[in-house]
Amino acid sequence: MKERIEKLRERFAGAGVEALYITNPENRFYLSGFTGTAGSLLLGLNNSYLFTDFRYTGQAARECPDYQVIETSGESSEVLREYLTGEGISLLGLEGDYLTYNQFQTLKEKLGGVELKTVDGLVEELRARKDKDETAFIEEAVRLADEAFKEVLPLIRPGVPEREVALQLEYFMRRLGAEGAAFKTIVASGYRSALPHGVASSRIMAPGDFVTLDFGAVYNGYHSDITRTVVLGRPEKKQEEIYQLVLEAQMSAIESLRAGIKASDVDGAARRIIEQAGYGKQFGHGTGHGVGLSIHEKPRLSAKDQSLLEEGMVVTIEPGIYLPGWGGVRIEDTVLVLNGGCRVLTRTPKENLLSLS
Ligand code: ZN
Ligand code: ZN
Repeated sequence: MKERIEKLRERFAGAGVEALYITNPENRFYLSGFTGTAGSLLLGLNNSYLFTDFRYTGQAARECPDYQVIETSGESSEVLREYLTGEGISLLGLEGDYLTYNQFQTLKEKLGGVELKTVDGLVEELRARKDKDETAFIEEAVRLADEAFKEVLPLIRPGVPEREVALQLEYFMRRLGAEGAAFKTIVASGYRSALPHGVASSRIMAPGDFVTLDFGAVYNGYHSDITRTVVLGRPEKKQEEIYQLVLEAQMSAIESLRAGIKASDVDGAARRIIEQAGYGKQFGHGTGHGVGLSIHEKPRLSAKDQSLLEEGMVVTIEPGIYLPGWGGVRIEDTVLVLNGGCRVLTRTPKENLLSLS
């Protein structure tokens, strides 16, 4: 944690504030290791404080040796003011993206005399590059999702409701050691596979359906994210064609992926192939996103994002084609960006459209 805190200090000093008040739960965990569900951090240039209530002070003291743990009761802005005064801080950085309007108003009232400035994205930019431990946690989250998928394959067949498949996927991920599902499991069959985010419904799967499964596991706070599309029974020619097209686009983006490439170029590598085949409008989302303590984090692999990818970033590559009323295909892997290339962490096969019956 010490290294992360030091890096952040350089950044917030560079952003022109004397201290940073952290309220986002993922950022709080990233910087302190605190697993409680209530608390905030105050990082000054020399001292680090963790404010939490009676329920968590013992736990925080154990988990966060780099912090002075301060017990608060109810309103933490009173205590915050005391420490800001003690440290002589007159310009405090806040995470504007994570404070409610009311929280901000309270801080403004209670911290009279201290100038407040929102500085967003400082911790998120650090979080984008994963260290060895973080990469290992994500790899384990990926493995748990891969293993759970194997377990539920026999259930993906005509006559079974989507919800049952989602339930079993989540059951097996937890059974195997996950803390939970990374997000609401998507199982979208038949015409519903054209919904990019069709959370599992009570629809009963039928012969000939495409079934898109998008899910992930959480391990030690870190997420994985995988999508596979399968077909129930023998695929029609068009189903094969659309699947192969999405696969080609996905592989093209993966081949382009390396440290130093622009995020928009990775998106372009997938989008070009889908556009050339005439389905550009049916691929209405970005090619991927960073994944870590949040399911969606920096960087965004979209046509608009000009930022350069860096070694240690973990991203998803997930192009799709969605034809309303007919169905859709998405293929998604979790991938580690390296110098000169990348490593696909997801192991579930995708080379052929899997036919289940
Ligand atoms: Zn996904
Ligand atoms: Zn995703």
